[in-house]
Amino acid sequence: HVAAAAAADGKNIVRRKLTGYVGFANLPNQWHRKSVRKGFNFNVMVVGESGLGKSTLVNTLFNTSLYPPKERKGPSADIIPKTVSIQSISADIEENGVRLRLTVVDTPGFGDFVNNDESWRPIVDNIDSRFDAFHDAENKVNRMNIIDNRVHACVYFIQPTGHSLKPLDIEVMKRLHTKVNLIPVIAKADTLTDEEVAVFKKRILADIHYHDIQIFEGPRYELDDDETIAENNEIMSKVPFAVVGSNTEFQNADGRQVRGRKYPWGVIEVDNEEHCDFVKLRQMLIRTHMEELKEHTNNFLYENYRSEKLTSLGVAQDPSVFKEVNPAVKQEEERTLHEQKLAKMEAEMKMVFQQKVAEKESKLRQSEDELYARHREMKDQLEKQRVDLEEKKTRIETGRPLEEKKGRKGFSLR
Ligand code: GDP
Repeated sequence: HVAAAAAADGKNIVRRKLTGYVGFANLPNQWHRKSVRKGFNFNVMVVGESGLGKSTLVNTLFNTSLYPPKERKGPSADIIPKTVSIQSISADIEENGVRLRLTVVDTPGFGDFVNNDESWRPIVDNIDSRFDAFHDAENKVNRMNIIDNRVHACVYFIQPTGHSLKPLDIEVMKRLHTKVNLIPVIAKADTLTDEEVAVFKKRILADIHYHDIQIFEGPRYELDDDETIAENNEIMSKVPFAVVGSNTEFQNADGRQVRGRKYPWGVIEVDNEEHCDFVKLRQMLIRTHMEELKEHTNNFLYENYRSEKLTSLGVAQDPSVFKEVNPAVKQEEERTLHEQKLAKMEAEMKMVFQQKVAEKESKLRQSEDELYARHREMKDQLEKQRVDLEEKKTRIETGRPLEEKKGRKGFSLR
């Protein structure tokens, strides 16, 4: 664009080496300072049946006790909710001076009913209402400090059955995949062996592929350096992440304090890549792809939602504006105008021509009449001369003068 604009201005872009320090190399630092001052926000939704370890995993991810331990008083019948409710918990966390406002949207009650047909509805409604709120904020007069409450990532917990996806999982994922970045995870992966995890992952991916479900696939733009490409491929090769959550520390076999789950036969370490994919999930969600998840939500998912909503409200493109930008229509219009101009010119020329022809014709007719008249006059004169000559001839032939002839004529009459 810049090159085109410069070319249009008639200027050329000159590549120059700087002879001294100017200072724009500091731009990334300016950006860094501004971002740190402003802070970051990230909204993550967790969906899955209760008891799959959602709250434990969120606490493990952000190393906080964001979720207070669930208080379960009385018999279980008392605590079973009637519908899927949506709970959102926010926390400001800080690491090395960088502030992050983290919001976790939980969906208690999901999949807990005898009939779970409509389980997805409150979740979809909640995602939509967050889009709507952002859309309303964008349309306000003052749009300086819009708070972004849209869901940037949706971690979907799959029960570690070792079989394949359940119909409910497929139904819900199908409802969600156009609205959120779906990140499927196998919950409580410590309950499956390594082989079982590998087979289960394959089946899940096959199901996802078969049902055309779009899951988050990392950056869509071309990654430039090999290291980033390799890192991204490594992360994506683990999808769906087999995760284990725990906030309790134990001493492992070699004496180190580790976060994990203790079993009679040993400790499963949460932060050990040999034991589970928790590290990769955390790396993707927090360390490498958080901005990407937010960008994709804004540029693609929200944009889709917005244009669909506007279309459903009947807001169409103004056709005149559309014509302006459509070169084919514009060209056609210009051609018609040009043709009209030509036709007008032709008609005018025809009129002038006809007028001139008519004038010439009348002039010719006039001179023809004059010629005829002169011709008749001359003819009459000649006729008269001929008659006179004829008379003279007869007179000469008979040798009598005109008077005699007259006299003889008179005589004979007598
Ligand atoms: P939620 O209802 O989905 O939020 O589940 P919770 O986080 O409350 O966890 C339910 C139960 O599962 C608790 O007893 C947890 O200790 C246990 N749990 C959580 N994560 C794991 C895990 O990764 N593996 C195993 N085996 N148990 C887990």
